[in-house]
Amino acid sequence: MLKYCIEKNRKSFLSLLLVLSMAFAMFALPVTAFASESEGAGAKISFSDESIELNKKKSKQLSLNKNGMADDAVISWKSSNKKVASVSSSGKVKAKKVGTAKITATVKGTDIKATCKVKVVHTKTFRVRATGYCNCRRCSGPGHPRTASGRRPKQGRTLAVDRRKIPLGSKIIMKGKTYYAEDTGSAIRGNKIDVYFKSHGRARRYGVKRVTIKVYYKK
Ligand SMILES: [Zn+2]
Repeated sequence: MLKYCIEKNRKSFLSLLLVLSMAFAMFALPVTAFASESEGAGAKISFSDESIELNKKKSKQLSLNKNGMADDAVISWKSSNKKVASVSSSGKVKAKKVGTAKITATVKGTDIKATCKVKVVHTKTFRVRATGYCNCRRCSGPGHPRTASGRRPKQGRTLAVDRRKIPLGSKIIMKGKTYYAEDTGSAIRGNKIDVYFKSHGRARRYGVKRVTIKVYYKK
């Protein structure tokens, strides 16, 4: 009888120990997981895009990856230049004027942060009629060593434009290449551009093309 009692008590004790350790595990695990997630060395946040280009007056929700962070971690948002781009308390960026701003997201109460560079641009895309020209008398008339902007023209860089439509100095992307509006021409009006070439032969060979251009205005 005595032997049976001891045996029974031992079994109860072991059961109790098991229940206690399970309870402890259930209680302790989420706590330790939370602590390591929000403050541990492995936790970090990052932006899906390290930099974005956003047109003036447009808004965009930034996408933040919370790797190993607790779901309820609070993020605070800050812009390095609110006049260029502001950011809401939920991470929505609003582009205000041409320039760059750095958006920083910080996990409240920690020094865990991530930054995203926002480039605010003012662009428009046009379909234009493109022709070629050079500095010769036939293309440019007499005495035109320089462009209307004062720069020397350069093949692969200089475009002549209607400055009322595209201000001189604007960057222009055409077929993936970067050009600049540096020159004007009496025949270049509205949706027409002239592409500079260093020889008359090359200018003639360019012919006439219908192309899409993306204009980056300076402001
Ligand atoms: Zn020519």
